[in-house]
Amino acid sequence: MTQLWDFSGGIHPPEHKDVSTARPIRNAGVPDYLILPLQQHIGDPAEAIVEVGERVLKGQKIADVKTGMGVPVHAPTSGVIESIADYPVPHPSGMADRCITLKPDGEDQWCQRSPVKDYRALERDQVLQIIRDAGISGMGGAGFPTNIKLRPPRDRKVSTLILNGAECEPYITADDMTMREKADEVVAGLKIMAWILRPERCVIGIEDNKPEAIAALRKATEGTQTEIAVIPTKYPSGGEKQLIQILTGMEVPSGGIPADIGVMCQNIGTAVAVAQAVFEGTPLISRVVTITGEAVREPGNFEALIGTPIEHLLEQAGINQDTVSRLVLGGPMMGYTLTTEAVPVIKTTNCVIAATATELPAPPSEQPCIRCGQCAEACPMELLPQQLFWHAKATEFEKAEHLNLFDCIECGACSYVCPSSIPLVQYYRFAKGEIRAQQAEQLKADRARERFEARQARLEREQQEKELRRKERAKAAAEAAAKKQAEAEKAAAEGEAVDERAAKSALVEQALARKKAKAEASQPPAPSAQPTPSAPPAEQKPDIEALEKQLTQARSKLETMQGMLDDAKAQQADNVEKLERAVAKNHDRVQRAEEALSEAREKLAAGSTESQPTH
Ligand code: SF4
Ligand code: SF4
Repeated sequence: MTQLWDFSGGIHPPEHKDVSTARPIRNAGVPDYLILPLQQHIGDPAEAIVEVGERVLKGQKIADVKTGMGVPVHAPTSGVIESIADYPVPHPSGMADRCITLKPDGEDQWCQRSPVKDYRALERDQVLQIIRDAGISGMGGAGFPTNIKLRPPRDRKVSTLILNGAECEPYITADDMTMREKADEVVAGLKIMAWILRPERCVIGIEDNKPEAIAALRKATEGTQTEIAVIPTKYPSGGEKQLIQILTGMEVPSGGIPADIGVMCQNIGTAVAVAQAVFEGTPLISRVVTITGEAVREPGNFEALIGTPIEHLLEQAGINQDTVSRLVLGGPMMGYTLTTEAVPVIKTTNCVIAATATELPAPPSEQPCIRCGQCAEACPMELLPQQLFWHAKATEFEKAEHLNLFDCIECGACSYVCPSSIPLVQYYRFAKGEIRAQQAEQLKADRARERFEARQARLEREQQEKELRRKERAKAAAEAAAKKQAEAEKAAAEGEAVDERAAKSALVEQALARKKAKAEASQPPAPSAQPTPSAPPAEQKPDIEALEKQLTQARSKLETMQGMLDDAKAQQADNVEKLERAVAKNHDRVQRAEEALSEAREKLAAGSTESQPTH
């Protein structure tokens, strides 16, 4: 016998469940068209991966979430993609969102499927991937992607896995009928999830108003360690935090998640979807939906393809358009009024109530709060609904947050008991929406500021780097200039030496030539030799070419040195004086070279005159 605890507050509204459990689950068939919203769960929307006009097979992936948190969407039957456009989707605001419209071709032709016989032979990550690829998100509540939920943070070991079969909200019987008719699949899915998480304890929590489901599950779990915990019927015992408290005695901390206390809750429909994904290779393309209310002749549960328009299901249940006054999606406590019956069934759709005017009458007008405190007594989260209401109404959102507004599970118990008919939950939803919008704005502003600061830091860094590079360049240029100057000075010194040497060498050569000629002239002629009367004394001719070259070099050198001197003067360099001396030296050298050349030319000219024959 499982030990049970109680949670504070709670209410006992009329159940209205028998209305829809009298018939077995019926197959809703294939409607004329299917509308598949790209966003069906918490997280990022999927992106269409098919094109208009394309034929798709049953079970084929038609949209996927490439980056971010989300799961794919699959074609619930074979057919042709008719459009990818905005269409009304299930939402309290009645908003439209991106949807793929599929026109069934009537063949219901499956794509290739890959069932797994023994998932234990696979890695856990492989099984999680199968669950993800099957497009499974939680089929109760907000629809969190199941593969992500089944991978809790490493530091939070799940010791208790709970399957939530409480289904406490009035009218809804989808889980009840699923447990009755698909108990084996429920348990098979639970086993897969338990294999992934390896908890110490597995419990299926069911309210005591579902005896058939309890019996079916007891039978399906025979011989296993899974506990069937029958809990008292009280709204909202199916709330995740309430069920955890009932089954474990532990409370999920404010702002925390069940994994914080080592617990995980999964939905009945989700367990069936996991079993079908693994053992049949079937993606999540249908679910059980309760169609109930006094305005339908044959209320009950339908196995409906995802994307089936609600109007199709209402027709199947025999809607009486004359008596229906209000369509509610979900239950009377947490659901909302539909603005159109054209919206489709999505992965989280569990119930539609076609209510008559007497069944769900319009709420009486709101009266002033009389501070009776009944709302606080009913609140299962031990909040202060009356104070939250005041703060929400006065848009004192910060104060509402301090009173743990975000712990409110929007169960509606406070509104239900309020004698002043104050729609308290609507005030809380409004306040939460405003706070989220402000937080989003703040986040946007913070990100913009961070981007600005990062840009400023980058610009500053770039400026510093630029300045550093400029300094390095200047240093390198100064070093190069100094080196060049040193080389030039060295070259100038060497050039002077070479020129000096060349000039001396030329003079020495000339002197030697003169000496040789003189010696030859002073020697008596050889007896046998007949002197040539016209031959001049043997004096060597000057080398005009060498002297011209010498002069050119000297002039070039002078020009270079003069250029360097001009530059140095312009830069007011320290070596001006030195260069002036070098220029003067080179000037002298040019002068000497000019004189030497001129002298040589004269000599040559004189020599040629003397050698002219006389007549
Ligand atoms: S139940 Fe209604 S009237 Fe009573 S205290 Fe709460 S909000 Fe006020
Ligand atoms: S709606 Fe929120 S405040 Fe009201 S009873 Fe439920 S949890 Fe408490």
